[in-house]
Amino acid sequence: MTDANAPDVADVVVHQGVATRVLIGPGALRHVPSELGRIGARRVLLVTTPSVAAAGDALAAALGGRLAARFDGPRVHTPVDVTERALAIVTDHRADAVVAVGGGSAVGLGKALSARTGIPQVAVPTTYAGSEVTPVLGETRGGVKTTRRDPALAPGTVVYDPELTLSMPRGLTLTSALNALAHAVEALWAPDRTPVSDALATEAAHEIVAALPDVLADLGDVRARSRVQAGAWLAGTCLAQTRMGLHHQLAHALGGTFDLPHAELHAMLLPHVMDFDLPAAPDAAGRLERALGTDPVRVVRGLADAHEGARRLRELGVPRAALAGVAERVVAAPYPNPRPLDVTSVTGLLERAW
Ligand code: NAD
Repeated sequence: MTDANAPDVADVVVHQGVATRVLIGPGALRHVPSELGRIGARRVLLVTTPSVAAAGDALAAALGGRLAARFDGPRVHTPVDVTERALAIVTDHRADAVVAVGGGSAVGLGKALSARTGIPQVAVPTTYAGSEVTPVLGETRGGVKTTRRDPALAPGTVVYDPELTLSMPRGLTLTSALNALAHAVEALWAPDRTPVSDALATEAAHEIVAALPDVLADLGDVRARSRVQAGAWLAGTCLAQTRMGLHHQLAHALGGTFDLPHAELHAMLLPHVMDFDLPAAPDAAGRLERALGTDPVRVVRGLADAHEGARRLRELGVPRAALAGVAERVVAAPYPNPRPLDVTSVTGLLERAW
C-alpha cells in the first residue's frame, strides 16, 4: 500500500552501514588471536607482505598451532592469478579463516579469498587506504580492473593497531594519508551523502589534517599516528557509504592505464580536484573550511607539495599527449561530480597536475 502523504523517494536519504566489528588502539594486534577464536577459526591463513613481516611473525607466533599457512605475495590491484595461487593454499591447508596484515593490497587479497570460499576474514590494516571497511573489491585480470560491491566483501572484523603504521616511510605516510583524505573530501560532495557520512567525513578531514604534520615531524609519534589512523578509518567508512566523484575517477583512469602507485597518484591529484570542484560544492567547502580552520585547497596543496617523491603526473611517466584522451573517457561516462564536466576543463585540470 502506498501512502499518498509519503515524501517523494528522491527526498529520502538512505543510510546503509557496514556490519564490521572494529578494535582500535596501540597493541591491538595482540587481540587478533582471540578475535579469531571468537569467530571459531581453527586453521588460519595469514596473508601479509615482506614490508610488515615483523607484525606477521608476531601474529604467527601468537597463533601457534592455529596457523595453517602463510602467504606473503599480495600485489596491488588484486591480480586474479595471485588470488588463484593463494586460493590453492586455502584449499590445500583447509583454512577456515583468513587474516590479512598489510596495506590495501593485502586486505584486497583477503577479500578476494573470502569472496571465493566464504571463509571469514579479519583485516589488520597497516596503511591508511581504508579498504578494510568497504564492501568493495577491485580485481585485475589481463591488465583490466573490474570492481564489485557486495556487503559480504567487507571484513567482519577490523583491528587497527597504530604501532603497525610506524614503519611506513615518510613518503607512504604522507601519500596514504592524503589518499584517506580524498575519501572524506569526495564524500562531502557525494550525491548520496547523509548526515552520518557528513559527520564522519568532517571529523576524518579534521583529524588527518590536524595530526599529519606531527606524524611527519616524528614518524614514531604513536599518538599522532593514532589520530591519523582513526581519521583514515572514518574516511574509509565514507568511501563505503557514498559514491565517489571526479577525484576517484581520475585516479582509476590514470592508475589503470599507466599502472601508477595508488597513494602517490591520489596525493598529487587531490589539491587540483579540490580547486576544480569546491566552488561548485559550497556545502562541502564550508564544512572543510570549518574542519581545517583555513582555506582547504591551500592546506592540502601544502601537504601534497611536502612530498619528497613524485609530485607531478609527468614524474610518474604519464605522457602529456595522453591527457586529453583520459579526459574524453572520463567525460563520456562521468562518476557523479558537483561540477559538470567537459573535455576542455578536465584536460586543463590534468595539465595542471602534469
Ligand atoms: P599497498 O597495500 O600496495 O602498500 C603499498 C606498499 O607499502 C607495499 O609495498 C606494502 O608492502 C607497503 N606497506 C604497507 N604497509 C606498510 C607499513 N606499515 N610499513 C612499511 N611498508 C608498508 O598500498 P595501499 O595504498 O595501502 O593500497 C592500495 C591498494 O588497495 C590498491 O590496490 C587499491 O585499489 C586498493 N584499495 C581498495 C579499496 C577498496 O575499497 N576496495 C580502498 C582503498 C584501496
